[in-house]
Amino acid sequence: MNFFTGIIQPFLNLLFPGRCLICGRELENSDFICLCLRCSVKICRPAPGPLCMHCSHPLEQGRCPSCIIGRFDPLWFRLNVSFGLYQGEYKKLLYIYKFQKQISLARPLAVTACKHYYDFFRAFDCFIPVPCSPERKREREFCQAEEFTRQISRICGKPLLPAIGKHSSVFRAQHKKNFSDRLSTAHQDFYLKEKFLKQIKGKKLLLFDDIFTTGSTANACARLLTAGNGQIGVFTLARTVKERPEEK
Ligand SMILES: [Zn+2]
Ligand SMILES: [Zn+2]
Repeated sequence: MNFFTGIIQPFLNLLFPGRCLICGRELENSDFICLCLRCSVKICRPAPGPLCMHCSHPLEQGRCPSCIIGRFDPLWFRLNVSFGLYQGEYKKLLYIYKFQKQISLARPLAVTACKHYYDFFRAFDCFIPVPCSPERKREREFCQAEEFTRQISRICGKPLLPAIGKHSSVFRAQHKKNFSDRLSTAHQDFYLKEKFLKQIKGKKLLLFDDIFTTGSTANACARLLTAGNGQIGVFTLARTVKERPEEK
């Protein structure tokens, strides 16, 4: 965590209220550090239904057009629940969070997710974030999935276990030849940290990531976690939506 943005900035914001990252309105005392209440309510809201119960993609005429069912053999997790759809203003907000290094957005994202999914989160024993590679973490100064998982873990009173690591890109480049190789070996990007094995044994684990697209990353991480023989669910901030031909 960057010392200034993580520790000093919140104090400065208390003394000199900042402006909302989205609408520019001056923040009031009750607002989050970087997002006004109006924007947090307007932008951070759950995807409208009906959604697929397996992967959270919106259903089309009762069918899921981009499901995880049948895509993986085997599928190592039970379901993915996504908070919102990866489109419009919510997509912009996640872009700002991830690429403009706005670590302070982790809190409003977590709070709004907990407002809707508190009972779902509480049904699991431990929370495990999908990690970034060491290079990505250095470059962005934080790991986006880990930060909002930390906030959700504080609110729900459940432990965060950083049980999965991601290999460096140098390591990954040495072990892969081409793109199709990359798809078939997604699980080799990650490794299970042995020291957490005891803590995940027989537990209900909830894996957290920011965006759910094909589910390859979630499946790769869930595969590693099955070493603990527990149940595995996935929660993501957003679900990418299959584009219709006319929208391309
Ligand atoms: Zn605003
Ligand atoms: Zn589906």
